[in-house]
Amino acid sequence: MRYISTRGQAPALNFEDVLLAGLASDGGLYVPENLPRFTQEEIASWAGLPYHELAFRVMRPFVTGSIPDADFKKILEETYGVFSHNAVAPLRQLNGNEWVLELFHGPTLAFKDFALQLLGRLLDYVLEKRGERVVIVGATSGDTGSAAIEGCKHCENVDIFILHPHNRVSEVQRRQMTTIFGENIHNIAIEGNFDDCQEMVKASFADQSFLKGTRLVAVNSINWARIMAQIVYYFHAALQLGGPARSVSFSVPTGNFGDIFAGYLARNMGLPINQLIVATNRNDILHRFMSGNQYVKETLHATLSPSMDIMVSSNFERLLFDLHGRNGVAIAGLMDTFKQGGGFSVEQERWTEARKLFDSLAVDDAQTCETIAEVFEQTGELLDPHTAIGVKAARECRRSLDIPMVILGTAHPVKFPEAVEKAGVGKALELPAHLSDLFERDERCTVLPNDLKAVQAFVSQHGNRGKPL
Ligand SMILES: *Cc1c(COP(=O)(O)O)cnc(C)c1O
Repeated sequence: MRYISTRGQAPALNFEDVLLAGLASDGGLYVPENLPRFTQEEIASWAGLPYHELAFRVMRPFVTGSIPDADFKKILEETYGVFSHNAVAPLRQLNGNEWVLELFHGPTLAFKDFALQLLGRLLDYVLEKRGERVVIVGATSGDTGSAAIEGCKHCENVDIFILHPHNRVSEVQRRQMTTIFGENIHNIAIEGNFDDCQEMVKASFADQSFLKGTRLVAVNSINWARIMAQIVYYFHAALQLGGPARSVSFSVPTGNFGDIFAGYLARNMGLPINQLIVATNRNDILHRFMSGNQYVKETLHATLSPSMDIMVSSNFERLLFDLHGRNGVAIAGLMDTFKQGGGFSVEQERWTEARKLFDSLAVDDAQTCETIAEVFEQTGELLDPHTAIGVKAARECRRSLDIPMVILGTAHPVKFPEAVEKAGVGKALELPAHLSDLFERDERCTVLPNDLKAVQAFVSQHGNRGKPL
């Protein structure tokens, strides 16, 4: 499989190089040159497969030529073997034909484990083969950092540095990062906000001389391998609900547009999906585009669903590329306009096409709490605030009661106690067994000033399993 850039100027790469690339050299994002397409018979024959075997069948075309089948199978069995539920991604029924796909049974209790557990193993496999090492520098406001650290903690060939804003992530989220020890794991608390952290990561990608020749790898959702891993659970859910003979709908709590883009790809690969609903919080750039053809940056609002607090959805560029007939020059132009501070609209027919593909809704904090309370009352299920946004959007946007509606359950409620408390649900939140002593564990973290040079000096002093690069 070859991958091309959404801006049309960077060289096409194979899977292995895309895994290590992050952004393309022209500033674009990599997408498969040709998407695999499965027949209905083929998809139907996968019913009842264990998760890792289904994952092998869905993802195999994407890695062909880079990873031999036997090795890929082994990696997948290991990856999904660490999940604490036998079904890996169980479906839980809320109402008649309404389901939550529980994607929070991985080590850090959020769906990001599905991709980052795999990414860490793939990186280590490819690097071992090449005899190379890489450094990861990532910024997090919460979920990504812990999932990336958990995913890379056993990697022999990866050193990981995660920047989080000092005193501005929740205690559960901080502890999920700082209580994991390893000579290749480095938590850095920056005396600044999340944007400061993200700017430092961007600047480090732009000028990597401080790494003395070691390569920097991206772990945010611009990395293709993350999107790829998320395609699998759309197939998994649909197969359990009568697919592919029957069509299924999905409602997806959305921030960077990575998770729902994977659903869009699943549909293009042959899975019958009826509705794909983009559910956002008050940071609603995607909803504003879908409802009014305006892709315009607005100020960032802190909400009760912090993992969806974004101003711009980086993976949206991948959809725009398809909407524009895969014309990289057109995308480079749009992104340039956007960068100059302007927003943009797309031509009417392209926007109409987008509206055929997706429905959308923005849900505010008050509605989020109402939904948590409502669902708890109706079913006894406690939703996390991100999942609650998905449920609210599913209920508002649903077109047919005959078609099963699956809401992606993106996090465990224990990660976001503030929203659960505000919802007034009188149920104590308990950490799952593997995290029950989280609040007693020792923490390891370095506090650094909001200063790029200081951070880069720290990375180059510790980037080789704690030793200088
Ligand atoms: C990251 C995250 C999201 C948003 O996913 P995107 O792929 O960025 O759209 C939603 N919910 C939770 C809990 C998350 O951690």
